[in-house]
Amino acid sequence: MVSRDEEGLYYALDLGGTNFRVLRVQLGGPEGRVLRQEYEEVSIPSHLMVGSNEDLFDYIALELSRFVESEGENYHPKPGRDRELGFTFSFPVKQTSINSGYLIKWTKGFAIPDGVGKDVVQALHDAMKRRGLAMRVTALVNDTVGALAGARYWNEDVMVAVILGTGTNACYVERAEAITKYHGESPRSGSMVINMEWGNFWSSHLPRTIYDEDLDAESLNPGEQGFEKMVSGMYLGDIVRRVLLKMAEDSFLFGTEVPANLYKPNILRTPDISKMHQDESADLREVAKVLKSILGVSSTPLKVRMLVVELCDLVAERGARLAAAGIVGILKKIGRDGSCLSNRSKCDQGEGRHTTIAMDGGLYEHYPKFRKYLQETVAHLLGEEIAANVSVELSKDGSGIGAALLAASHSQYV
Ligand code: ADP
Ligand code: MG
Repeated sequence: MVSRDEEGLYYALDLGGTNFRVLRVQLGGPEGRVLRQEYEEVSIPSHLMVGSNEDLFDYIALELSRFVESEGENYHPKPGRDRELGFTFSFPVKQTSINSGYLIKWTKGFAIPDGVGKDVVQALHDAMKRRGLAMRVTALVNDTVGALAGARYWNEDVMVAVILGTGTNACYVERAEAITKYHGESPRSGSMVINMEWGNFWSSHLPRTIYDEDLDAESLNPGEQGFEKMVSGMYLGDIVRRVLLKMAEDSFLFGTEVPANLYKPNILRTPDISKMHQDESADLREVAKVLKSILGVSSTPLKVRMLVVELCDLVAERGARLAAAGIVGILKKIGRDGSCLSNRSKCDQGEGRHTTIAMDGGLYEHYPKFRKYLQETVAHLLGEEIAANVSVELSKDGSGIGAALLAASHSQYV
């Protein structure tokens, strides 16, 4: 998918659900690999997430040009060449070539109607032109695919990449002949990457509560991204808020009056619930702090704080177990779940090989209890013997490096 021979200076731009990152990386070929890298992260002003396409891309181009201007001496763009960039875009896209694709729909916190149906690379190129920035996107990359490419650069056992951040998605390496809807030429490697867009997975077997239904109905994209809304960082905090509100109304959890802030959508964020969930103090001091600063509840009995922790635990555990079930589903599909042992025809050469799942995203990275539930569930579903050959590994910023590598392998100058 990406070669280890790439050399030179390349860039990546990663537009996620909350932040966007810009990255430069000096590649040193098979020996040097990644010689140097630097990145900057900027949070996207919320008005730009629901404004116009031009404003969003103008802002990105501005930040990108600042990043380029701040370049140190030890990065060496090749003389006479435009800088080349891998563009990681974590929204559903109909990809029409390696560096073009139009937006199918926005997800997470984005709703920019005039961006839907437009080529996102063209939009970025236009904005860079308006800024006078000489840069070219040579690869448009989904974040999961970037994570897979970045992780496989170091470790060929990586077959699956999963994003658990603001949203969630996964991709995996599939044998080309198993892809029945693909009629093009067979790739030389014999395999292809499938971007699942699993955030939009839904099944009537998924037990959805009234809180999930209300959250969906009041979201920017009702009826869409059902799996994502039960699993990912943008939503877990708000599920907890909804249950707390119900308990406050029906059972006077916080006294006779319902705290006004509990009515405000998204006021309780996933980092808040992870802080409360992981409070190790005997009197649950952190829980008290969050309840006070976010919900304006000034004093709570210990019993109430314990109940809040229990609720965070339930919501995080459910999300983590659903994500784990998705991962095991992929392993089943590619015969890395032990099914090879009983049915040889189903296997690729993967039998007995180690399989690594590369994970990226702030939810997985910063929420240890979520991570633990996910890993335990994967191991539990696979059984001890198979689980010994499967590992789930954080591949931090794999998606950025992956996009830069893909930009290098599709450079217009080679
Ligand atoms: P993006 O999804 O925008 O690319 P990240 O991968 O950095 O960005 O993920 C950011 C998300 O990670 C936040 O929206 C939040 O839901 C989650 N997150 C960040 N910090 C924490 C934390 N301490 N505990 C739990 N979740 C967190
Ligand atoms: Mg991301």
